[in-house]
Amino acid sequence: MTSLSDFLQARLSERRAQQLYRSHKTLAAAPGPVALVDGCELITFSSNDYLGLATRPEVIAAQQRGAALGAGATASHLVNGHFEIHQQLQHKIAEVTGREAALLFGSGYMANVGIINALVGRGDVVVQDKLNHASLIDGGLISGAQLLRFAHSDVAALERQLRRARAAGDGKILLAVDGVYSMDGDIAPLAEMAALCGKYDAWLMVDEAHGFGVTGSKCCPCAGSAAAAGLDQDSAPIVMGTLGKAAGNGGAFVAGSQALIDYLTQFARTYIYTTGMPPAVAAGCLRALELMQQEPLRQTLDQRIDYFRRRAAVLQLPLQQSTSAIQPLVLGCEQSVLAVAEQLRNSGYLVGAIRPPTVPAGTARLRITLSAAHSEAQIEGLLRALVSALRSVEVTA
Ligand code: PMP
Repeated sequence: MTSLSDFLQARLSERRAQQLYRSHKTLAAAPGPVALVDGCELITFSSNDYLGLATRPEVIAAQQRGAALGAGATASHLVNGHFEIHQQLQHKIAEVTGREAALLFGSGYMANVGIINALVGRGDVVVQDKLNHASLIDGGLISGAQLLRFAHSDVAALERQLRRARAAGDGKILLAVDGVYSMDGDIAPLAEMAALCGKYDAWLMVDEAHGFGVTGSKCCPCAGSAAAAGLDQDSAPIVMGTLGKAAGNGGAFVAGSQALIDYLTQFARTYIYTTGMPPAVAAGCLRALELMQQEPLRQTLDQRIDYFRRRAAVLQLPLQQSTSAIQPLVLGCEQSVLAVAEQLRNSGYLVGAIRPPTVPAGTARLRITLSAAHSEAQIEGLLRALVSALRSVEVTA
């Protein structure tokens, strides 16, 4: 018999030996793209606050006003935890995403698990991209539906799986994909995927965690990658988005037809059996979404991305094919990634060192994320520090 403590120690030692042990950085504060970590001011290139809304005084003031409604929702949405501010936020999300209606969730993880489980189960099939976020994968596994995966963004491989799923019976087929991939920054070929869903009678669900607020169409500029690909409520019927990334607050939503929202309100267990979003968070989100609509934040972010990529190319840094705010530098080996991140930290920059199992083995990387709140000078400083860190790690490796 293994004791609990022996089991825990053995697993933790294994993690350490593999260089995969994760630890927190504890922030005292994060005013703008600057974080106070262990008494040091670091410029952060690791947050998902793509539009700089998390620290906007207007958003913080709205949260403070929202807190006056009650510090917590005090019950689940369907009991007595649904406030007018939640209702207003849902209407605003529907407007921004160009959908009929929206429903709030406590987090993106809960939204994905709840949506998938409400829609499919035993006898059905969930088709997933191999690089999908853990919450989509977990949602599929919990549902009991058959899981079919396909090589990342490979439309031919997807079609093979859809054909297989259709041949397996007349159960429902749900295709779940990230719109913008969280660790690579690339965008799914959503128009082709939607066309295949039409052909094989499958339902398309797009996770817009990293697309909402930062990309969209002419009429819905912040709606996300499905709108950018020209998809509407019929072709991309299930859109999930988070409010803790570009919206700078926390929580998540699903947007779609009124029938979809009515259905999920009845059947999504992670909506029903949990305390409602704190009213202060809903108020902060609402203000953030108004700012998204009113100000050219997306354009500023696009300029920063463009600046980063142009300068990185001049400095011959090995960039991936990403046009989004997520700009990974894949180094492969865990030690190198940790050593470069450490050097960057010593130079005053905080960058995520991402290792397996978050990314596939052999693809450890620095995940650099850009924000509209970064200045060009801050980006230039990071790039220069990066060049020297890469050089010195190679020298000592
Ligand atoms: N989907 C994707 C693609 C994500 O990157 C994340 C967050 N890392 C989530 C879902 C979960 O969102 P949340 O942080 O709100 O739980």
